[in-house]
Amino acid sequence: MAMFILDDATGIGSDDVDSLAAFVDLVIIANDDGVGLDDPAGGMQQVTYSRTENGAPQVRLDTLVNTDFSPDYGGGAANVDTIVIAGLSGFTLDDGTSFANNGTALPPASSGLPGATLNTTENCLVIYDTQQNICVARDGTNGTIDLPISNPVVLYHELSHAFRIVNNTLLNLTAGCNPSSPEENAAITDENDMRTQIANRQGETPVLRDPGIHCGSVGCSSGGCCIIATVASKSLSSEQVQYLRGVRDHFVRSTEVGFAFFERFFHDYYAFSPQVCTIMAGHPNVGDHLLEGYINPLLDFWKMMIERSSESFQTGSLGALFSQMHPDRDAAKARLKALKKTESYWSPGNAFNPLVPSKLIKLLKDHAWRSEHIQWALIRPVRIYYDLLEAWLSGADTDELDCLFELKLSEWVPDVHLARFGHRCR
Ligand SMILES: [Zn+2]
Repeated sequence: MAMFILDDATGIGSDDVDSLAAFVDLVIIANDDGVGLDDPAGGMQQVTYSRTENGAPQVRLDTLVNTDFSPDYGGGAANVDTIVIAGLSGFTLDDGTSFANNGTALPPASSGLPGATLNTTENCLVIYDTQQNICVARDGTNGTIDLPISNPVVLYHELSHAFRIVNNTLLNLTAGCNPSSPEENAAITDENDMRTQIANRQGETPVLRDPGIHCGSVGCSSGGCCIIATVASKSLSSEQVQYLRGVRDHFVRSTEVGFAFFERFFHDYYAFSPQVCTIMAGHPNVGDHLLEGYINPLLDFWKMMIERSSESFQTGSLGALFSQMHPDRDAAKARLKALKKTESYWSPGNAFNPLVPSKLIKLLKDHAWRSEHIQWALIRPVRIYYDLLEAWLSGADTDELDCLFELKLSEWVPDVHLARFGHRCR
């Protein structure tokens, strides 16, 4: 065993940790099947990885995850694990040290290595800010600081430091940023492997960071945003986002297939969502109409799916559940109207809408709609919801709704084998 994601920071720092973000970033780093998480234990989840690809990032991750490291920093050999802490901007260590707009790899407390005095554990802590907004020096420009650094890239950079910490091969590390110290030069060189991998996956030309310059500044739009979070509330602790986490926990941890599905889903999702966030920042009205016309219907759909998969759910009551969730017909009509306004987002082929920036539609066409995982989890559910709402408003009773709902699910579900789905209507 060697790598863990921290769920509960008790004894280390504040509770502003986002373990989902760490997992998503690791999935993107791996760009490979076979990344997994064990059940939570002791406030952490162990990362597992069965590698099928041979690129530098895959080999590096494989080594970090599947090696028992026992470095001897002078006091005898002892096991050192790598513990990944995905901190929100408010995360601090217990002594108050903040890592807002920063990342770090802290060597074990007793190692005597640079940064060890901040660490209260005998493991290597990899900490990064998942809401960071950092720019670094673009290669080939003599130090122009305009290159964003996405969260998977920050994490991979810190894992490069961690790799040398657990192997006790840390290079000379100094505070000056230009020229960068040998240790930072090595981490930036590794970081560029990740930039190249992500760009290749998106069919873009890689833009690299200058390994000779470690300076950075705050102010680039970064790669860590979740569209749904941004739209719903501009806050990671909003009810909607908490709810989506519930969906993730419920399905991801309950079935192997669900887990594998979500791995692929997040991989595809985070490949385009940062660009969507950038576009949305320039079009504030987009978020407003997406909330009522897309996000809330999507959440309601998943709410019903969770209900349906619970032990106490009675077959035949899905229609009743739908009608209970829409007691007010005027509100239901307004919801249908809002859905029609956003149809171009979730109904590929119906692309023109003067309210929607054409750049955004192009991005969705090129990335989102092409992914069967995105289609399955984010687009078809809204289509199903729309059809049900329309039927409900045109007078379908709860039995008719129930049959329509089950029929739609029977067309949707077979693509991914979540537990407790069945079809009883003809
Ligand atoms: Zn570094």
